[in-house]
Amino acid sequence: MLIQLNYLKMLDSVKIKEYLLVQGVDIVGFHLLNGNHDEYYNHLNQKKINNNLYPRKVNTNDYANYNKVVKNAKTLISIGICYNNQINKNNNKNIGYYSKISHGIDYHVIVNEKLLLLKKYILQSNGNAKIYTCCDTGILDDRYISYLCGNGFYGKNSMIINEEFGPSVVYGSLVCDIEINNISNHQVISKCLDCNLCEKACPTNSLANYQLSYHTCLSYLTQTSKMIDLDLLQDSFYGCDICNDVCIYQNNNINHQCFNDIGYFDLLKLIKMNKQEYQNCFSKKSLSWLNFNIIKKNALLLYVKNNNLNKDELLNLKQELSNAHLLNSKILQDTFNYLLERND
Ligand code: SF4
Ligand code: SF4
Repeated sequence: MLIQLNYLKMLDSVKIKEYLLVQGVDIVGFHLLNGNHDEYYNHLNQKKINNNLYPRKVNTNDYANYNKVVKNAKTLISIGICYNNQINKNNNKNIGYYSKISHGIDYHVIVNEKLLLLKKYILQSNGNAKIYTCCDTGILDDRYISYLCGNGFYGKNSMIINEEFGPSVVYGSLVCDIEINNISNHQVISKCLDCNLCEKACPTNSLANYQLSYHTCLSYLTQTSKMIDLDLLQDSFYGCDICNDVCIYQNNNINHQCFNDIGYFDLLKLIKMNKQEYQNCFSKKSLSWLNFNIIKKNALLLYVKNNNLNKDELLNLKQELSNAHLLNSKILQDTFNYLLERND
């Protein structure tokens, strides 16, 4: 009987939060599901209408129901880890930066480790609990779940902004079929100041009406084989942190030791790397999932822009890569064609 009572012990949100904060999680929120998933469905449909579902192909019907991942889902838990690692930038034309989201160890690894701890914590109290976890690559919208869980509000920069930690936060989600004590669903009041600093700072005018136009956003473009207008390209070969960094809520006093990272790389060295060398340098970072020729494309564009290479210099570089058998990729060939045409 005693065993049975322990087995059914109700979990408490305050205790779970205390546990996770000790484990290095920055933000924890909860949401009690009421069996009606219309809100989530509407949210996804709205994103679809606004054509800004980044950039995965999403069937909202499949995503609308938490029961798709856990039958009789009752509780959502969202955890957040702030990735606002501070670096000192300089004017060295031979280097390019990569987004803070790629600093230190891959956030998928870090957040999934914390979600696993949470899952084990729940299973210790209720071994029969059905649990689904995801971070970024799952089928749920982690940002929207973090919003539902009260972790932040939507800012004009399209990010979830946590009042303490700001917008540079990575969220992971857990769905389970058990109820947890002490959860009070509450709508987070938006404290976005409408200062428009993010919209004004965006070099590609990709922000308007709380929506992000992914197809022009540098963060998106640096993850695709698409060419980028050199006049719009800034100082990064992967990602863009501008609309986060200008936000009034960006918390520059947070530095997790484990994310310490210089945040930049020598562009020419990157352009001349082979796949193995690239893996050796970047395999532990979240940008490692990308085709490395896309990263090389960005590095080449940035290097040419920074150093204002003329046609002869471009042709010399092309020949050098070709001689070293580093010009086999169509993406790189297209990039050279794009740059040479631009120089005509
Ligand atoms: S990430 Fe950069 S390009 Fe994209 S919306 Fe923000 S400021 Fe604009
Ligand atoms: S910069 Fe201003 S307008 Fe943009 S998200 Fe932050 S508070 Fe809101």
